[in-house]
Amino acid sequence: MMQHYLLLTPGPLTTSDTVKAAMLKDWCTWDDDYNLDVVQKIRRQLVKLASPGHTPGEATGYSSVLMQGSGTASVESVIGSAVGKEDKLLVINNGAYGARIAEIARYLEIEYRVIDFSETQAPDMALIEDALATDPAITHVAMVHCETTTGMLNPVEAMAELCRKYNKVFILDAMSSFGGMTLDVARLDIGFLISSANKCIQGVPGFGFVIAKTVLLEQCRGQARSLSLDLYAQWHTMETANGKWRFTSPTHVVRAFDQALTELKQEGGIKARANRYRQNQQLLVAGMRELGFEALLSQDLHSPIITSFYSPDSEEYRFAEFYQRLKAKGFVIYPGKVSDADCFRIGNIGEIYPADIKRLLTAVAEAKYW
Ligand SMILES: *Cc1c(COP(=O)(O)O)cnc(C)c1O
Repeated sequence: MMQHYLLLTPGPLTTSDTVKAAMLKDWCTWDDDYNLDVVQKIRRQLVKLASPGHTPGEATGYSSVLMQGSGTASVESVIGSAVGKEDKLLVINNGAYGARIAEIARYLEIEYRVIDFSETQAPDMALIEDALATDPAITHVAMVHCETTTGMLNPVEAMAELCRKYNKVFILDAMSSFGGMTLDVARLDIGFLISSANKCIQGVPGFGFVIAKTVLLEQCRGQARSLSLDLYAQWHTMETANGKWRFTSPTHVVRAFDQALTELKQEGGIKARANRYRQNQQLLVAGMRELGFEALLSQDLHSPIITSFYSPDSEEYRFAEFYQRLKAKGFVIYPGKVSDADCFRIGNIGEIYPADIKRLLTAVAEAKYW
């Protein structure tokens, strides 16, 4: 198969040929060839990936649900099903994805409060603690793990600690980090973790997934504000009907995801993948700096997922021209999303290796026309 260019984006991202090949067949959900058990296997594996501290077979208290749609659909299914009529959601916002969670709450007419922080600084935990200590109506807290807007890694451990201290349900949007960084849901006492098929697991887009405490999933019963995004109903059907989805399932995407999970295991699991991503990111930042590009964030705030670089300070520079030149050399980069700085972004997740980053750096040097 011919790959014309690598996607250095936050998703959909570059997948292996074997993941793509898993889709070259028209699968029928209820036929034995498809093997409905594939869904149950995936659900078990997801819980296992999120529970590295557990010995195999040990009960984790967690379960997982797969949900059709883009990652946002899964976030919306959690917010719309977990936060009850009498509940109140606190949203930590320091980027477009934090803001999106607040927007979901607004659409669904859920009681919520947002604390806004700068996109380029770590959230102030003292301010968050103050809100939790003084607003007893708050029952749930939502935070983004890797804020893909900038590439910032938010303080998930500190947030988890506060949620435990004030007895709040912790909802984590780990969309762009899950599978690419080690994370232990039970140790952090996370209520709901949300991610999607086409980020660090390296599948293709089409569904998202939620890893959640079983007791909290049970409490979602009858609370959903949407039929198709009813998290409890989806979970209950998968639990009781051997992995059945309520409505047409993305069969090809599921088979590709199953293959992607196999390849994650072959790579050596999340630890090995996290090492590769970190290596990619460090190589990228160091190489770009040599070429005169500065990263938006200081390295201590950085995730190993995606990096925002300041646009060159030159009259001649145009992102569109730079983009086209890089694309012609086999690399697709991403526009910036930060509100108050002129940036572009380069992702380093997906089927991307340090050798690709080295080739990219050569291409950037050649594409510099200003
Ligand atoms: C990609 C992403 C999402 C989901 O985006 P979709 O376009 O709906 O798949 C949500 N949150 C974060 C942090 C993301 O990186």
